[in-house]
Amino acid sequence: MVQWLAALIRRPGPPMPIRMLPPDVAAKIAAGEVIERPVSVAKELLENAIDAGADEIRIEVAQGGRRLIQVGDNGCGIAADEVELAFARHATSKLRTAEELYAVRTLGFRGEALASICAVSRLILSTRAATEETGTLARLEAGVLLEREPHARSPGTTVQVENLFFNTPARVKFLRSDPTEAGHVARLVSSYALAYPTVRFVLVNNGRLALRSPGTGLAHDVIVALFGLDVAEKMLTLPESENRDGLRISGFVGVPSLHRANRQEMFFFVNRRWVQDNTLTFAVSEAYRTLLPNGRHPMVVLSLELPPEDVDVNVHPTKREVRFRREREVFVAVQRAVRTTVMAHGAIPTIEALASTPGSLESPTAGPLSFWRGHEPTHAWPSGGPPRLGALEWQRTAELPVQGGTSQTVASPGAQFQRLPMLRVVGQVGQTYVVAEGPGGLYLIDQHAAHERIRYENLKRQVQCSELATQELLDPLPLELAPRQAALLDEHLATLTALGMVLLPFGPNTILVKSVPADLRGQDVAAALSELLDAAERGGAEFSWEEQALITLSCHTAVRAGQTLSADEMRDLVRQLEATELPHTCPHGRPTLVLLSQAQLEREFGRR
Ligand code: ADP
Ligand code: MG
Repeated sequence: MVQWLAALIRRPGPPMPIRMLPPDVAAKIAAGEVIERPVSVAKELLENAIDAGADEIRIEVAQGGRRLIQVGDNGCGIAADEVELAFARHATSKLRTAEELYAVRTLGFRGEALASICAVSRLILSTRAATEETGTLARLEAGVLLEREPHARSPGTTVQVENLFFNTPARVKFLRSDPTEAGHVARLVSSYALAYPTVRFVLVNNGRLALRSPGTGLAHDVIVALFGLDVAEKMLTLPESENRDGLRISGFVGVPSLHRANRQEMFFFVNRRWVQDNTLTFAVSEAYRTLLPNGRHPMVVLSLELPPEDVDVNVHPTKREVRFRREREVFVAVQRAVRTTVMAHGAIPTIEALASTPGSLESPTAGPLSFWRGHEPTHAWPSGGPPRLGALEWQRTAELPVQGGTSQTVASPGAQFQRLPMLRVVGQVGQTYVVAEGPGGLYLIDQHAAHERIRYENLKRQVQCSELATQELLDPLPLELAPRQAALLDEHLATLTALGMVLLPFGPNTILVKSVPADLRGQDVAAALSELLDAAERGGAEFSWEEQALITLSCHTAVRAGQTLSADEMRDLVRQLEATELPHTCPHGRPTLVLLSQAQLEREFGRR
């Protein structure tokens, strides 16, 4: 036994001599950092084309980029006597001194992309400087220049990368399926098309046009080209703003009914560099808090411009991440800008006849883009549109009546949160929906969702002002908890107390409930508490635990579906909903009401 153990403990042998790595090994190691998969190649070549001032960029991939990645541009080109240099590691025309690194305005600056790409592929470069008569054609393999010759072409550069990773087979094993790798490239090209609306991008996948941007200079046109008119109509324009640190935020944010199963359609640009950034993602998620269904994500295209010295772009080999000098301020500014725009919009989903919008169920992007996974436009519900409406589907109308008789589609900065107009209750349907009439038409209100919104805002206000009404129980209620719940309780006692739950320890894993929030009177306290503890366990992912607790409590104290309401109760419910800040969604993000517009009714009955 002891011998067996001793064999496991490795004894240091004689030291291996230290040697310099052969250049080709060093090059492969360095390339591994920058070139992880086909999209990395596409990204570096695309950035070079943009840095070269091109306004037309064509990207072609075959077999997910494994067989071919080609990027052609009409930029400034490379002078004949600099072609070799362009492939040398740390050779760049974009940076001269270390100081310049802190004010870099080009996408590239590390001077290692071409060197890295050609270390792991067969590469053909065709280029002509705008200032020269003839161009150059060069062929390289595994970083070695095999041949070069003069070459006739128009000014610009085309880089053709074939058989990526042919000499690093281990990398090939990590590649995903061709459509997945091609999908990454499509997302990359879409991102840059959004960031550079003056550039015309064309992406060809396996010989077929996959996407094209018009190059009109208008980001909105790019959104239409990439995602279809349907989605573009649901994107709100952020008002231009600049804070005192010189941070400018612009872009587009989706209305809450436009949501996705993942974060793939949250695009961020910092000084026109496409970045993945947790701070920005989190700021946007916070901005949409309680407006989207659980687990769904908004669609946003956000561009931040700030003085170059306030952002470090040299923190990641592929330059995909940045570091902000004033991270907190950036977070707050983004969260505020997005939230204000989305809240000012506050649209009510409306019921529109399919007949009047022929083909509206077809995906507007089902064509060339369909290989891009996760691209289908989503309507209000993850399950593909609210069911049970037969031939009707929900849509946001362009014009929504708001209080005061005016209408608005795009948020203006500082606009009041859109309130509900005065509604007249007509009746109840299926013991679940309240039917009401208002200036816009017929409103169907989900009684539970609406009451949840009311309860949530009331509870939140009461907690914030520490004036939550509590109810002492005449007979304190003993509750037995699972050990896991008991541990959670310990941890979250303070929040529970703030919510009006006075709990005393009462033997191992048992507690005594002394008082509860007044609204829980007569409700199943044990179930509510156990759900609160579940919320505590889940907490942190989407909402903070305090937020979760408020949502759980409001859900528990809200009127249920299937409960008959008297006329007075319904009127009361609608009055209270009118008074909330965000009347259109419940705290989980589901809609509280839908609108069948006057115009729609008239169309349905053939009155116009
Ligand atoms: P970096 O972009 O960081 O400078 P690269 O290895 O990507 O490094 O490119 C090296 C140099 O080659 C660039 O600095 C640029 O001068 C030149 N170059 C590369 N691609 C192009 C292109 N498409 N058009 C013009 N010049 C290019
Ligand atoms: Mg580069």
